[in-house]
Amino acid sequence: MTDLAAPFTLTIGGKAAGADARLEVIDPSTGTVFAHCPAAGAAELDRAVSAARAAFPAWRALSYTERAGFIARCAEALKANKEPLARLLTQEQGKPLGQSRDEIERAATLSTGMTKIEIRPEVLVDNDERHIELRHVPLGVAGIITPWNAPVNLAICPLTSALYTGNCAIIKPSPFTPLTTLRIGEILRDILPAGVMGVLAGGDELGALLTAHPGIDKISFTGSVATGKKVMAACAGTLKRVTLELGGNDAAIVLDDVDVAVVARKLFFGATVNSGQVCMAIKRIYAHEKIHDALVAALANEARLAKLGSGLEADTVLGPIQNRRQFERVQELKADAKRSGGTLHEGGPAPQGQGYFVTPTVVTGLPETSRLVVEEQFGPVFPVMKFRDVEDAVRRANDTRYGLAGSVWSRDVQRATQIAAQLEVGTAWVNQHRATMPNVPFGGAKESGMGRTYHRLGLEAYLEPQVISVLKS
Ligand code: NAD
Repeated sequence: MTDLAAPFTLTIGGKAAGADARLEVIDPSTGTVFAHCPAAGAAELDRAVSAARAAFPAWRALSYTERAGFIARCAEALKANKEPLARLLTQEQGKPLGQSRDEIERAATLSTGMTKIEIRPEVLVDNDERHIELRHVPLGVAGIITPWNAPVNLAICPLTSALYTGNCAIIKPSPFTPLTTLRIGEILRDILPAGVMGVLAGGDELGALLTAHPGIDKISFTGSVATGKKVMAACAGTLKRVTLELGGNDAAIVLDDVDVAVVARKLFFGATVNSGQVCMAIKRIYAHEKIHDALVAALANEARLAKLGSGLEADTVLGPIQNRRQFERVQELKADAKRSGGTLHEGGPAPQGQGYFVTPTVVTGLPETSRLVVEEQFGPVFPVMKFRDVEDAVRRANDTRYGLAGSVWSRDVQRATQIAAQLEVGTAWVNQHRATMPNVPFGGAKESGMGRTYHRLGLEAYLEPQVISVLKS
């Protein structure tokens, strides 16, 4: 069991390491600093990269089955430490404890699920003259840069992809939520061979150093579109391979035949889980004019029932926004929605004090051009817009630079599926939103990203195709 009171350490070469600088970590439910951790710089990064490069030959030489064995032990260790890790995650990130437990459990399950995927050499030609085979070889060392909304899952899934395919990896969590990732590093470094995994907390500048480092072959970046573009530009310098999991502005299209009460509950959860701070949360709802008013009333009722509070309190449904910058942004979008003529159906009430709480709010009557519709809000405030023709709803849903996911809701599954297929997104769901599995690829179309996570496609992003071409005579 991890000791919550112990100081936090970086993981370099399989051992604990400190740094001269440190990060202050704020509990978003109080707005005050509750912990510190070391902040790595260029020197620590160089040491972690050297250790990873030294570990690479032996790690890549293991079989997939052997590496899957290590990953299974890591997943077991995560589950064994679920309770203290979940409490720490809630303290630094804000989400309700149940959601923190789910995140850790899911990270472990997705991780072992990915190791069921086989990557085999493929014989392309085999005749009297030639034998030509396509293999997939690991790239080397992967840098994994994560955001603050789901720091455990978004570190463990790329870590698993990298390690299972024979790469070593260095994880850099967001400076807003470094603690649970550091603790996980402390737990896993006793399981993995030294150097195979490094964990370095640090600011944005450490992310930039990782993307430019010549000893790193691949970057897995999860975060905003703006930073993703910088990451891609920086990776060009050494032609690093790159996977980008970026933001979204997911639309849910609700047809006229739904059971409003049932669907409203699911839509509300899909839009406000983790206080809306989920890349694939529902960020816009298009409701058929026949059910629009009833749906808004049901969503507004859900908002009124959702209790806001510290994620550590048992009855909390919505925790705080993770950081002050994001809190101010969501408040600004809410104010802008009001100025743009929107009607705000607010839930209630936010706890008193310095915590970054935002009341869940359903906004109606907004023009399509208003900021809450166009931008990714990443908070529990979302617009509901009316439509008459499905074609018009699809056009409006697609009228965005984002393309992460979307959903269509109807009793008529066949019709909904046909409509879903018209969405310009990486994943189009029917009668659900936010369902991921280890054998199903997930990622963004358009500016929501590049490449996929999970599935064989996700693993191949950590591998270089290599052809062995033999002339037999
Ligand atoms: P962010 O882009 O501000 O930061 C993400 C990470 O990048 C942090 O670790 C940060 O320190 C680092 N970073 C900052 N500048 C950098 C640079 N120049 N070079 C390299 N690294 C740098 O994102 P955020 O605000 O932490 O996260 C919120 C965003 O993440 C939202 O847009 C959300 O939709 C997106 N997200 C996407 C997915 C997905 O799977 N598609 C999942 C979760 C979150």
